[in-house]
Amino acid sequence: MRIDCDVVVVGGGPAGSHTAMAVARFSKQNIRVVLIDRNERSEFGKKTRRGWTCGDAVSKRSLEFVMENLGIMYERPEIEHEVDGVLVISPDHETKVLFDGEGYLLNRKLWPQKQLQYLEKFGVEVLFGVDARQLIAEDNRIVGVKGTSRDGEPVEVRAKVVVDASGSASVLRSNLPIESYVEREIDKENDMEATGRYILEFDRVVEDETWFDPRYCIIHLDQFLAPGGYCWTFPKGESKVNIGLGVQKTALDRRNAAYGLRDNLTSLIDQYVRANRAIVNPREPEGYPDQGNTYSTWQVPVRRQNDCMVANGYVVVGDAAWMPRPIDAGGLGPSLYGSVILGRNVVRAIEENDVSQDGLWGYNVEYVRVYGYQMAGFEVLRRYLQTLPNDDISFGMKHFLSEDDIESIKRREHPRFPLLTNFLRVLLDAELRRRVRERPKLARSLAYVANKSRRLIKHYLNYPERSADFPRWRAQLLRELKEANERLGLT
Ligand SMILES: Cc1cc2nc3c(=O)[nH]c(=O)nc-3n(C[C@H](O)[C@H](O)[C@H](O)COP(=O)(O)OP(=O)(O)OC[C@H]3O[C@@H](n4cnc5c(N)ncnc54)[C@H](O)[C@@H]3O)c2cc1C
Repeated sequence: MRIDCDVVVVGGGPAGSHTAMAVARFSKQNIRVVLIDRNERSEFGKKTRRGWTCGDAVSKRSLEFVMENLGIMYERPEIEHEVDGVLVISPDHETKVLFDGEGYLLNRKLWPQKQLQYLEKFGVEVLFGVDARQLIAEDNRIVGVKGTSRDGEPVEVRAKVVVDASGSASVLRSNLPIESYVEREIDKENDMEATGRYILEFDRVVEDETWFDPRYCIIHLDQFLAPGGYCWTFPKGESKVNIGLGVQKTALDRRNAAYGLRDNLTSLIDQYVRANRAIVNPREPEGYPDQGNTYSTWQVPVRRQNDCMVANGYVVVGDAAWMPRPIDAGGLGPSLYGSVILGRNVVRAIEENDVSQDGLWGYNVEYVRVYGYQMAGFEVLRRYLQTLPNDDISFGMKHFLSEDDIESIKRREHPRFPLLTNFLRVLLDAELRRRVRERPKLARSLAYVANKSRRLIKHYLNYPERSADFPRWRAQLLRELKEANERLGLT
């Protein structure tokens, strides 16, 4: 099969579907958009063989952004449950920090079916059951993609722009066959989280709001149960949860070696479910729509987004572009913002007849300005927090996190740790001075991370408008990150 079109999108996850919708929606000319997903229609958007692996939580703000910009509507049943915010609980369970911020728990299996209705309404042609294997290059430009259908037939889709939304294991990005600034690989040991979750029903007989609360997504920080990551219990109803955790591979190896243990992701998730005292008699829901989606594991990139997300005729979005937030691995919000921004820029490039790296460059600039500018700072903070023992995390949450920081985190901004960075405040507050003296290294490092984040944000706000200035900008970024890693002992 061979198809010629204007834009081919690879991957029918949230990033690919919404980018395809955005291109179709924003184009004034009749742009032909084709979307390829390797799943059949009934399993559209399925991430792995085992399911639509996700914690299912998305902020109200992100979902409203995509609905308003694309003129679409999500409601029940694809929205399963509403929450008032996120509660983060320290390892010693003594400090609970409530980050307000309404959100939704999605049904990730039903959501893509609603997306399909909109894709078809917007005139996007969807090819089901096609596995994209390879980009087609001519004269240092990407001009299409090759793949295979379920029955082994070759499929070739030629397009002016190929959108790579094929998720964190993208083979297209890894094997990008032209010269470009797009980074092909991530540091898998340090910048990828191994994650997994169950969807479970249970008997609501033990009321303990630090373990389950239908009004809040609960995050438990615990370097023993989730080394280099965190555990979550997200409500999907009054007695239903999405429960799981993420770990960093090197942190898990260190922890196993230190305790002489041989835990893996699955054994840790099972331990967490057992440790959760509110989840009594847990069982996998039977029947539609959860059947076939009750347990699965997958990987999430937790680095800053790819420093450059465009090449001649090629763009990358969502997990394939390493968009999830480094601090909490939330990837739905950035995918939705990224899709709308990308759709607008692809349409502009096609209408201006320039789909080169320069013609598509505006996507890099706009994404960084709207969403991506904070991610390198979060990357440094995440890397540092991953090295801390439970004891330091509990201490820091109790004594060094201020109201200002909580407000910042609510706005999804970097905490500035004013208790530690404001010299006068430390000088005038005897109790704070005592705490700083108790953990001088922790206090110094958190203050350093806050200042470094400020510098990184400033650097990102100067993201180059033209590709020619990119190498210099990136060299400076790498210097900043190297200095942070050395200073924090993260090399
Ligand atoms: C366990 C876990 C929990 C998470 N929890 C949350 C959370 O609570 N909130 C949040 O915001 N984020 C969460 N995330 C991250 C979030 O799920 C991702 O950021 C999001 O799904 C990214 O969307 P995407 O479209 O980029 O990629 P994906 O969702 O991975 O979609 C990629 C699509 O492309 C298809 N595909 C892949 N390769 C090919 C190919 N070669 N050819 C054709 N099709 C292909 C796949 O089958 C899939 O349909 C979690 C992730 C995991 C693993």
